[in-house]
Amino acid sequence: MNELIQKAVSLLESNAVQVVIGYGKGSTDRTRAIFLTKSEDCEQLIFDSRCVQNLAVYLTKAEIKKMGKPAIVAPIPVLRSILQLAAENQITADSLVVLGISPESELIGFDSPDAIETYLSTKQIAIDEKYRKAIDDIKAMPVVERFEYWVKELESCFKCYACRAACPLCYCTRCTVENNQPQWISVGSHPLGNLEWHVMRAMHLAGRCTDCEACFKACPMGIPIHLLTKSMLQDVSENFGSYGPSLHKDNTLSSFKPDDKESFIR
Ligand code: SF4
Ligand code: SF4
Repeated sequence: MNELIQKAVSLLESNAVQVVIGYGKGSTDRTRAIFLTKSEDCEQLIFDSRCVQNLAVYLTKAEIKKMGKPAIVAPIPVLRSILQLAAENQITADSLVVLGISPESELIGFDSPDAIETYLSTKQIAIDEKYRKAIDDIKAMPVVERFEYWVKELESCFKCYACRAACPLCYCTRCTVENNQPQWISVGSHPLGNLEWHVMRAMHLAGRCTDCEACFKACPMGIPIHLLTKSMLQDVSENFGSYGPSLHKDNTLSSFKPDDKESFIR
């Protein structure tokens, strides 16, 4: 941790960056995102197992961009999201400094998104067995039962959009759910509107989701939306090849192959 603080101090003092995005003490025993602009404040940086928020979400925010070039504290899920944002041309190598944190809590420097991809190649996304079992059980349900299962699970969603706000890959400045001309998605939180919203969210994240679980952790109702995105990861893997962010692979939903098994695309 001292190494992280020292690095943050040196980056701010040399003006190599103007803001450090990291984790600090939150209310009660929780941590929160902090935005440091003065080297004397860097002592506030912490990193431990409570630091699960995906800080990459701030990289595309206009308010943060206005602060200048950022350095960002990046454990593995954040690194994956940074790589996906680079693959989608939302960030460039020289637009930020990445303060990578290994699973052993060691500080790692990266000089390019390519270097992040090389590092992550040994740390593929792996869906936990308990989630795999839950997804398999849902997929094994007859269609009507599966539909009812999701209608029931999504019943308590009141469309606060905390899941969207927590996701680094939901970066549109205006989301389809807020468009009312035309209104594609019903704004009310009722069974149909909730279903539409969550199907749309899952589909927009297909092949892009980095499995950080920030959306699930942000949901005040504890709705298992992570099962939808993890299931989508599995589907993408089975139908379109390996998943995980990459600068060198085509994005699943914005590319096609002439030999695609679906004839409608040809
Ligand atoms: S959909 Fe959820 S798990 Fe996937 S990248 Fe966004 S916040 Fe992370
Ligand atoms: S955070 Fe939960 S309640 Fe809020 S919109 Fe997302 S799923 Fe619905």
